[in-house]
Amino acid sequence: MPSHASPFRQTHPEDAPPPTPMDAVTEARYREAVQCLKQIIEPVLKRDMVSLGMVRNLRVVDDYISLRLYVGQHQHYLRQVVLDRLHPLPWCKKAYVQLCTIPGVRTTLAISSGKGGVGKSTTSVNLATALSLQGARVGLLDADVYGPNVPQMLGINPVEVSLVDTPEGQRFLPLEAQGIKVMSVGLLAAPDHPLAWRGPVLHKIITQFIHEVAWGDLDYLLIDLPPGTGDAQITIIQESPICGVLLVTTPQQVAIADVRRSIHMFRRVGIPVLGIVENMSYLLCGHCGEPTPIFGSGGGQQLAEELQTPLLGQVPIDPLLCAGGDAGTPLTLAYPNSVPAQVFRQIAAALDHTFAPVPIEA
Ligand code: ADP
Repeated sequence: MPSHASPFRQTHPEDAPPPTPMDAVTEARYREAVQCLKQIIEPVLKRDMVSLGMVRNLRVVDDYISLRLYVGQHQHYLRQVVLDRLHPLPWCKKAYVQLCTIPGVRTTLAISSGKGGVGKSTTSVNLATALSLQGARVGLLDADVYGPNVPQMLGINPVEVSLVDTPEGQRFLPLEAQGIKVMSVGLLAAPDHPLAWRGPVLHKIITQFIHEVAWGDLDYLLIDLPPGTGDAQITIIQESPICGVLLVTTPQQVAIADVRRSIHMFRRVGIPVLGIVENMSYLLCGHCGEPTPIFGSGGGQQLAEELQTPLLGQVPIDPLLCAGGDAGTPLTLAYPNSVPAQVFRQIAAALDHTFAPVPIEA
């Protein structure tokens, strides 16, 4: 296993993509604004805001700058820091900074995969449990519109989602299971009916879903993304203040090719890839303890090296993981000392090491 000192700081996200074509003056101003923003170092993650994917929709129109700032609840002060940096630019009459945050949520992380069936939801549920066992307040948003099975994995029966009145308006009330707050896109559909949303309807529902849940105070919100690189994924990642994404894959080549595409997509939109979780890496013999790499070996490691992102953990095939999912009690809770649970707990510890609150320097 690689060092877990801080997966976040080892990543190499590319800079924000160039925006739509612009004239020479505007482009020079745009670049100047980006350079200014790159001077702002987020104190916990110790990286500049642009490479952390916090700055999005940056526009320069004549003498005006506008941008969206995707941050956690504890980082609202960064808005003023940004304004203080941009306003001294000699040509800048005014800068507009729109804060995009999920109320109450400190750190939002996404779990993604190139294709379905590789263990993304299993990873989300067990990671959420591992973080919760460490004492964190955790929420899990099941946004997998193609296979929302998180509620079942946490033993939540299909129920009517309740609404609650808040000062900001009506919000969905998350359910709670195993100490984790849960909201699933699957709870919005009738049981046994596929979610047949497409295009603008899908976009609207997902956006509402992300912003209209009364989470209360959370240290971590994990978002279980739909697999692949389609419209639903893009909508979610563009609408959420995601601090980083974990990619789940199996060691097989096909799954690996898909995950490569996903990593490029995240980097294109400026979301840091925290690392790869290789699932179903091997089968442990129940008698002699010998590992057998059923789906091949070395795929995750190879991909991690090629894409310069850490391999965060290798989860073995374990019938108890499957049974835990079916029974609604995650393995990490039922068997915290099992090998898969140890891998999830190590990843959770690494995440906490990176994202846990530290005093903000003046
Ligand atoms: P995805 O979210 O990527 O579609 P799931 O997490 O739903 O995948 O997993 C698909 C199936 O494989 C589930 O039945 C799950 O219990 C099982 N599974 C996932 N990972 C493992 C593993 N490491 N060992 C045994 N079964 C697993």
